[in-house]
Amino acid sequence: MIEFKNVSKIYPNGTRGLNKLNVTIERGEFIVIVGLSGAGKSTFLRSINRLHEITEGEILVNKQSITNAKGNDLYAIRRDIGMIFQNFNLVRRSSVMRNVLSGRVGYHSTLRMIFGLFPKRDKELAFQALERVRLQEKAYVRADQLSGGQQQRVSIARALAQEATIILADEPVASLDPLTTKQVMDDLARINQDLNITMVVNLHSIDLAKQYASRIIGLRDGEVVFDGPVREATDEV
Ligand code: ADP
Ligand code: ADP
Repeated sequence: MIEFKNVSKIYPNGTRGLNKLNVTIERGEFIVIVGLSGAGKSTFLRSINRLHEITEGEILVNKQSITNAKGNDLYAIRRDIGMIFQNFNLVRRSSVMRNVLSGRVGYHSTLRMIFGLFPKRDKELAFQALERVRLQEKAYVRADQLSGGQQQRVSIARALAQEATIILADEPVASLDPLTTKQVMDDLARINQDLNITMVVNLHSIDLAKQYASRIIGLRDGEVVFDGPVREATDEV
């Protein structure tokens, strides 16, 4: 569950990213956020896991305020949220396995991580996650040896290994070709269905949004201009 209560985000230079947003997202929904460049899609996503601070209002994640959380409470909330970026954000020179294991970092002490001491359970989780995206055979390949679509599936596996209940994906297929786009979106859809993981995905293609979303939210100038099921969405949203 994600709840935006009267949320505004104004950037330090005065640009308004979000304007008094009220949105509630339930567990298991597949939300696609659409809107033109500059509509506020990234700002919306980054607000959920507090990659940046909002200016006004409050955001609840699984009934807890991430806006006011501090220290360990903030870590605990963030552990529930996996993030996927357009450019994959992998450590390119590290193995696929290492990248997926980095989803486990929040569960352990810093010292343990510096020495790469991951318990066996973590490796099991990482392998399971790689199986879900059909990349278990690539576990010990360097991340930058994989194609773009495979790298994006590694970043999905990282979120799964993290045991996130929410996945935020900021233009996850923007740099991929149509075939690879379908593979990545199909994986997200399957994971949403099989594991009941809430998806919040920014896309600029309304066609893709209609194929995959259970609900579409249209943004313009930081405001919600459409919010509803796919069948009600027009090409204008
Ligand atoms: P998007 O693909 O979501 O439109 P952009 O390419 O506009 O993203 O933005 C890329 C990066 O630049 C982001 O980190 C964003 O926060 C930052 N950015 C976007 N617009 C501005 C701006 N007007 N001033 C400063 N930084 C910006
Ligand atoms: P979208 O993801 O829909 O392209 P963004 O959320 O990136 O839109 O941007 C929403 C508005 O906020 C735009 O006007 C953009 O220029 C502005 N913006 C985004 N990031 C920054 C930033 N770091 N500094 C200033 N303005 C920004």
